[in-house]
Parts: sequence; C-alpha cells; structure tokens
Amino acid sequence: MKQPDYLRAVQGFARRELLGKEAYLDALAEAPLPLYGRFAGTGLANWWMPKEFGGPGMGLEEGVRIAAELAYADAGAAFTLFIPVLATSMVNWYGDAELRERHLGPLVAGNGFCATLGSEHAAGSELARISTTARREGGAVVLDGRKAFSTNTDFARFIVVIARAEDDPAGYLAVLVPRDTPGITVEKRWDVIGLRSSATYQVALSGVRVPAGNVLRGNGLRLLEVGLNASRILIAATALGIARRVRDVCMEYAKSKSVKGAPLTANAVFAGRLGQFEMQIEVMANQCLAAARAYDEIAARPDAGEEFLRVGTLKQALTTKMFCGQTGWGIASTASEMFGGLGYTHESVIGKLLRDMRYVSIVEGGDDVLRDLVFSRYVVPVSKRS
Ligand SMILES: Cc1cc2nc3c(=O)[nH]c(=O)nc-3n(C[C@H](O)[C@H](O)[C@H](O)COP(=O)(O)OP(=O)(O)OC[C@H]3O[C@@H](n4cnc5c(N)ncnc54)[C@H](O)[C@@H]3O)c2cc1C
Repeated sequence: MKQPDYLRAVQGFARRELLGKEAYLDALAEAPLPLYGRFAGTGLANWWMPKEFGGPGMGLEEGVRIAAELAYADAGAAFTLFIPVLATSMVNWYGDAELRERHLGPLVAGNGFCATLGSEHAAGSELARISTTARREGGAVVLDGRKAFSTNTDFARFIVVIARAEDDPAGYLAVLVPRDTPGITVEKRWDVIGLRSSATYQVALSGVRVPAGNVLRGNGLRLLEVGLNASRILIAATALGIARRVRDVCMEYAKSKSVKGAPLTANAVFAGRLGQFEMQIEVMANQCLAAARAYDEIAARPDAGEEFLRVGTLKQALTTKMFCGQTGWGIASTASEMFGGLGYTHESVIGKLLRDMRYVSIVEGGDDVLRDLVFSRYVVPVSKRS
C-alpha cells in the first residue's frame, strides 16, 4: 500500500538524520536541538496542534504512525517530539481563549516545545501527595516546589506545572508558566539509561509568579489524567516502532550468522521466534490504532474537553501502554539473547533498543500503578461489586 505523504516525510527524516547515527544519539550529549529543528522542515512539528493555531491538525491515529516510524529509528527523538502533546492538550481544552491564543499560536509558529511538570520524588505515583504549592496573591499565582522529572523543560517555551492549592487541601491546579519566568531553576539533566537523545530534568520552582489567568480550568490532577491519554498511546506506539526495528536487526544479523553449517535464517528455532515477533508486532499495531481511534472519536466532538473530563483516564490508553510495554520488552529481551555475547556489548544496536524499550513500562505510570488503576476504574465498577 502506498504510504501517505506525511509518513514518507517522516521516513525521509528518519533515514537522513537518525538511522545509522545511534552512537551520537545514544551519547547523552547536549540535547540535539538542531536535529529537532530539521524535523520541523518536514512541516510536522507539533503535528497534533489544531489548525486554528496554525498547526497540521492531525489526529492521534496519524500520531501513532508517526511516533512508531520515528521510534523505529530513535525512540528518544520520538519521545522528545511528541511529549509536548501532554501540555498542549491541557492548555487547548482547559485554558481560556486569551491564554490559548497567547501561547499555542507562537508555539506552532516557532516549532517550539513545551513541558509538563507533575512528578515529585516523595509523592511518586501518588500524585495527590505532591508538595509543590500554588498560592493566590491578588491577581497572581505563586508556585514553589521541586519537580523530579520533566522532559524538554530546559528548552521549552512554556511549562505546565501541577501544584497543590495552598488554600485548599483537596485542590490541585494546572498552571501555564512561560519558561523565562523568574524562579525556575533547572537543577540537573538526568543520566537516563535509554532515550538518550531526549532530555529530562529535575527542576526547582521558587516564587514563580504568573497571572491568575494562567491557571487552567478544572482540577489539575484530572486535567493531567486527560492529557496523559494521548501521550500514553504514543508511548505505546514507540514500543511498536522499536519492536519492528528489533525484528529487522535480527534478520540482518541472522543472514551472516551460521549455525550447524547453515545461516541462522534457515534455523527452525530462529524462524519460530521471528514468527512470534511478527504476530506480537501485528497485535501491538492494531491495539495502538484502536486506542488512537477511540481517543480521536472523543477529540472530534465539539464538547471534547468536557467529555474527556467526564471520562478521565481512557481504558485503552492504560491497557495499550501496558500491553505494548510488556510485549515489546519480551521481544527486545529475546532478541538481545539471539545475538549471544554481542547482544551484551555496544557493538550491536540491540542493546540500545533494549534500553530504549524499558521506558515504556515505567514512564507515565509503571505497570503496577496502571494495573491498580485498571482494576479500580474498570474491573470493580460493575455496580461497585459490593
Ligand atoms: C525519561 C523520563 C521522562 C519523564 N518525563 C516526565 C515529564 O515530562 N513530566 C513528569 O511529570 N514526569 C516525567 N517522568 C516521570 C515518570 O512519569 C515517573 O517516573 C513514572 O510515572 C514512575 O513514577 P515514579 O518515578 O514516581 O515511581 P513510583 O510510581 O513511585 O514507583 C516506584 C515503585 O513503587 C511501586 N508502586 C507505586 N505505586 C504503586 C501501586 N499503586 N501499586 C503497587 N506498586 C506501586 C512501583 O511499582 C515501583 O516499584 C519521566 C521519567 C523518565 C524516566
């Protein structure tokens, strides 16, 4: 089947800029911003941004295909390029008209990045225990705290901070903060084991003051849940892309590897493993696309923001990330074994693919946390099963 133009543009970028450049991408050098600048040359930077802000206005189904294609070449690049969807979804649906106009249009025009700051060390995944505070002072809101992980913050145009309302123990806010606001300190960049062409930071917020109009409408934790729907499905799509690459790398290796006097490709054990990979890849792809369609169906509604608030966490976003993370990890792990000792060295790209794959089952909720959520939200509720 003929590829659509946007996918051919992504493949062209991946071939020119990412494939074969693994040593550079895996080096944890400076975040490769010029590289991301060149992605903008495809016309697809922030591809999900609505047309009303000058964006390409693409759906999550196309997003799954783009993220998988990028991750085939480098999952760190894929993650860097799509993770702004988390912050922009919250701002687009829950920011007032002036705030959206002031920040979303320029983000698109400048092919820029934004970031979300939710995670904290002590709270872990129990986000209701976060200690970053938002204090109302006249017409302003002042933020104080420390955020453990936030991707893209250093070079973001704006960040969205999730904070506890100082005057309401049960209240949480999501606040848009321009990156150049005084009081934001990037304390360090994490030395991560995979996705090393992406950049994730620990950030301190001290007396960060913005107008009260920068507070998004609704409970900040609920808005974060809504924002995570798209990014969790795209994280799952990166597992798909990495798994496809693993399969192809195995086939390449097997051509030159001889076992019992014949190439590995002629070996029944190898064939069985690759056949199994293909079945799993097919199911991952279908699952990612089905989840994306469920999301797009809601996103197309005129009351999408309200409907997402009602739904909160989409079941498909949770199950797809879990399934693709677990299946992808099984594929990468089996494949690394197939390379023998070489699979445990930096000689082959398989080690990088294995490390990159690991993040799928950790970031935006580890599997224990997601299993807990699926159980409490989607297994128990049949009449609350008293
Ligand atoms: C590369 C990278 C990029 C990231 N980018 C961002 C970002 O841009 N913005 C952001 O806000 N965060 C970001 N994060 C944070 C990331 O989303 C969290 O690290 C992830 O959700 C796991 O949460 P945690 O680190 O708080 O660990 P926890 O969830 O606290 O997990 C630690 C341990 O506690 C266990 N545990 C926790 N809850 C339960 C439960 N309910 N049941 C059973 N066991 C449980 C876990 O299984 C695990 O063993 C990033 C992290 C990484 C590594």
